Parts: sequence; structure tokens; C-alpha cells
Amino acid sequence: MTDTQVQSAFRPTTSDEPLLEVKDLDVHFRLKNGGLARVVDGANLTIRRNEIIGIAGESGSGKTTLVEAILGINRFSNRQLGGQVLYHARNGEVMDLAALSPHQMARVRLSEIGYVPQGSMNSLSPTMRVADQIVDGMVSHGMSKSKARAKVPELLEKVGLDKRVMRLYPHELSGGMKQRVIIAIGISMEPSIIIADEPTTALDVNVQRRILATLMRLRDEMGVSIIMVSHDVAVHAELVDRLAIMYAGQVVETGGVRPMLKAPLHPYTKGLTDAIPTITATRQRIDGIRGVTPSPDNWPKGCRFHNRCQYAMPQCAEIPPQLVSLSDERVKALNQVETSTEDRMVSCHLYGSGADRD
Ligand code: SF4
Repeated sequence: MTDTQVQSAFRPTTSDEPLLEVKDLDVHFRLKNGGLARVVDGANLTIRRNEIIGIAGESGSGKTTLVEAILGINRFSNRQLGGQVLYHARNGEVMDLAALSPHQMARVRLSEIGYVPQGSMNSLSPTMRVADQIVDGMVSHGMSKSKARAKVPELLEKVGLDKRVMRLYPHELSGGMKQRVIIAIGISMEPSIIIADEPTTALDVNVQRRILATLMRLRDEMGVSIIMVSHDVAVHAELVDRLAIMYAGQVVETGGVRPMLKAPLHPYTKGLTDAIPTITATRQRIDGIRGVTPSPDNWPKGCRFHNRCQYAMPQCAEIPPQLVSLSDERVKALNQVETSTEDRMVSCHLYGSGADRD
């Protein structure tokens, strides 16, 4: 990644106030053979008001399961949920979303947290006009049908669509237009947070950029926070303020996107950023990260990355590191980073994090 890309990616966060705090969140699946797949395991993450936070990591790292747990969807009987998801509501109340019933969570979704699910372009009903699909969500949250219908042109305008789109059926829309309709549904009840899971996957680069610009504009105009899930670190560089890297069900590094991409600390983050091709760097082979992500029913002992890590030390195979904060001075000394490290947290023995978690 070039300095220019990294510089243009940096935007300061506008508030330090927490909006959502994920604390030691576990999502464990009970397998048919009696075993346990620990798909998300002790994840910690804070989302602040009016910020865009990105969650990155390879397929199978637990990104989607983490946001589904925040949203309270897919809570099947074979899943065990542990930890807390503390949501700071507009009225000052703090709710633990992980403790709410499915019925209570259904009220929270859309009104407090909007959702743009993975592959959502294909989730629109082919037999309903766009307006009816947008109205449905609002009516299910208690708004009158007439009021909901009157709101549709404004919502379409907010996501950059002409109001004439409301009369169309999904098959008359391009992929980018369908994604905008899904975003319009997501913001229809004016939530505090939008969770967008791979919203630009399968879109061409130009459409992708316009969708990212729309999300950024919604943050600025509506003051919402956005959780952006993407395996594509370059997409995060375009959009987010802070970045969280997930590996094997855990958050292994968080911080401001600029310092993280310029000087990654965790060896896994370094592998991800090194794999981003640039058009300005001297031609060189991109090796990627050796090996594959381990299976959640058999995470390696110690640091879960140790089998793939070129910096692994003897204790890495035995002792799991913990996510710890590093001071600006410490990170600057380690990496000669000139900029603020913006609350860098990392889980790696290279930075002295001992742990006793199993
Ligand atoms: Fe590598 Fe050890 Fe750090 Fe894990 S704890 S990322 S194995 S150096």
C-alpha cells in the first residue's frame, strides 16, 4: 500500500464515546460428534459514536459470526453465546444485547442497528416493488403504512437513487442499485449503527467506490457508526477510521487504520498488508501468508497463528497471548512510526503480552 493511499485513508474519529462494547464474546457451535467449534472466542472490540470501524481477516476468521452475534441472529440451540455486547442507547440506557430474547432483539434490529447482510443484493423479493420492500421493515417496527410510504423517496435519495426506482422490481435494477436499496432498508428506522457485511463484494471497482462513498456520506449526514466487514484490506483503507483484525475467532490487533496499515504490529496483520498489490512499488513477488487458517474445532494451543508465523518463539506454541494496549511511545520505538498509534492493541508475545487463557 502506498503512502498516498494510506494518507488518504486516514480520517480522525469524531468521538471517543463508546456506542457498542463487545466484551469477551464467545460463539461456540455444538457439533454432531459432541465436539465444540469455537468460531468466535473471547472477542473484544469497542465501536465509538460516529466512527467507521472495519473488521478484516481471511475467510473463516469469524468476522460474520461476530456481527451476527452482535445482531442476535442465528441464535440456534446448538450455539452457546458467552460474554457481553453492551449497547449505549440514545436515551442513556446501557443494554446487554447478548442477554436479550429473540423478540427483544427483533425490536433492536433496524431501529437501533441497521444491517446490510452478506450477499444481500440477492435477498430482495423478485415479486415485490422496491417501495413495498422498504415499507415492510418500517411497518414491522410500528410505523403506519402511509408514513412509511411517504418516507421512501427521501430514503432513496439518501442512498443516491432516483425516486422513480420505488416503482421498479429488483430484476430492473443493476447490482449496485440493489445494494443501495438494501442500504435504504438498513437506514429506514434511523439506527445508531449500520453493520455492512461485505457490501461491495461482486461489484465492479467503480460501483464499489460509489457504494463506499455513499456509506461515508451517510455517516457524515446521519451521524451513524458503521461496522464494515470485509476480507479486502484495500476496501478498509478507502473507508474506515479504525481497523480490527480477526484471526481464528479472535481479535488480534486494533487501531487507527493509517498507523496499522503503515506499520502493522501483529505478524498476521503484516501478512495481510504485504499481500496488497500496489502500482507504484517496484515489481516484486507477493508470497501471501503461508499455510491455512486452522479449523475452529481444533484451534492450535498457544498462539493460534504460531504454525504460520515466521517470528514464532518457543512460548508461542504454549502460551496464548492476550490483547493488550501499547503506548504511543512503545509503538514508535518498535516501528519508528511518526504518527499517533491511536489506541493500538495487539495480541502477540513479540510485544510482551503474557496470558493465562486456555
Ligand atoms: Fe507469532 Fe508468537 Fe506473535 Fe503468535 S505470539 S503472532 S506466533 S510471534
